[in-house]
Amino acid sequence: MTRRAPDSCPGVLRLHEAADGPLARIRVPGGRLEPAQVQTLAEAARDLADGTIELTSRGNVQLRRVSDAGALTDRLAAAGLLPSTTHERVRNIIASPLSGRIGGLADVHPLVSPLDSGLLAAPRLAGLPGRVLFTLDDGRGDVSGLGPDIGVHAVGGDEFALLLAGRDSGLRLAAADAVDVVLAAAHEFLALRGDDAGRWRLHEIPDGAERVIDRLGLSPSAERLEFDPTPSIPIGWLEQDNGLVGLGAGVRLGSLPARTAEFLAAVERPVFVTPWRSLVLTDLAEWVAEQVVRVLAPMGLIFDADSPWLLVSACAGQPGCAKSHTDVRADAADAVDSGRVLPGPADPVDVPQPLPATDVAVAGRQHWSGCDRRCGRPRGEVTDVVATDEGYRVD
Ligand code: SF4
Repeated sequence: MTRRAPDSCPGVLRLHEAADGPLARIRVPGGRLEPAQVQTLAEAARDLADGTIELTSRGNVQLRRVSDAGALTDRLAAAGLLPSTTHERVRNIIASPLSGRIGGLADVHPLVSPLDSGLLAAPRLAGLPGRVLFTLDDGRGDVSGLGPDIGVHAVGGDEFALLLAGRDSGLRLAAADAVDVVLAAAHEFLALRGDDAGRWRLHEIPDGAERVIDRLGLSPSAERLEFDPTPSIPIGWLEQDNGLVGLGAGVRLGSLPARTAEFLAAVERPVFVTPWRSLVLTDLAEWVAEQVVRVLAPMGLIFDADSPWLLVSACAGQPGCAKSHTDVRADAADAVDSGRVLPGPADPVDVPQPLPATDVAVAGRQHWSGCDRRCGRPRGEVTDVVATDEGYRVD
């Protein structure tokens, strides 16, 4: 597959001109934000953008309607959220959010920093497309199903499977070699891609995974693992292995108000952005966790794993996207508030279509899109609710 357009993924230094104004995407390797960084993002959202922090499906964050790109750059750089002006868009690293705290075969969070540093240290890797995704899965299988270009998946306390083009390559690596091999694979992907700016992902290169393996000089030996694209999202009270408490918090349509983010920062504990557009607060004493739920649940964070909000995602829609037929996020929110998002499993909608928004009632996981491109659609079993110029179609 070759596209005609070069990759135009947004960053902080290259904003996307959305229909409602400039959009900045900020990479958060491993999803980890320190409290001061959460506070910086909250203040930037309030002072320089539309007042919300959007969570992305890669565990990054973005700000809409940016009014002063220079001021935003200065604030993010001062907070350590823009450590490179050359590599910012290639730092797409997702790690199992609960790793090292609850379960898993190995703690992958200590690999995030060396991988990020290795990317930043190689001038050539600034040429990776902004769509390239790296994953570090601690063996629970929560992020390996996200289709990484290059990733590792723990198969033991000291051994990882190498993932290429979204699949287990059959190669097994010692933990000590994992980051070096991932970086070497990134170099080989870049070499295979050559000058073809239309290939953004490893799976778009014919036999890309096999050719990377050849170039690495390694031989697959293990039976290949399969990964579930729809893991359960950590929501609610999470007992950490060290006796402290984590809290998984759903965020309505992935849109976090700046005010809520300021309260999160005030908890003074690390916050992880997950690729399911939710958050995990970590390392809380029990009484602090109780206070957090008491304060933040009324502000809209979701600590109930049965909440219908957790079944729904939506693209930007109007007014953010000029291609959108309607304000899909408002329609999706109204469907939740009106009780028309039903518990799963998915059930075929057996009525004439297209439908007016107020008649859409869908069970199970569903993604609302303003047009047929279906941006941001989660992987796995999802019912599509797609806007047309005559109403919604449920696919
Ligand atoms: S799915 Fe269509 S309307 Fe929604 S963000 Fe993508 S292009 Fe825009």
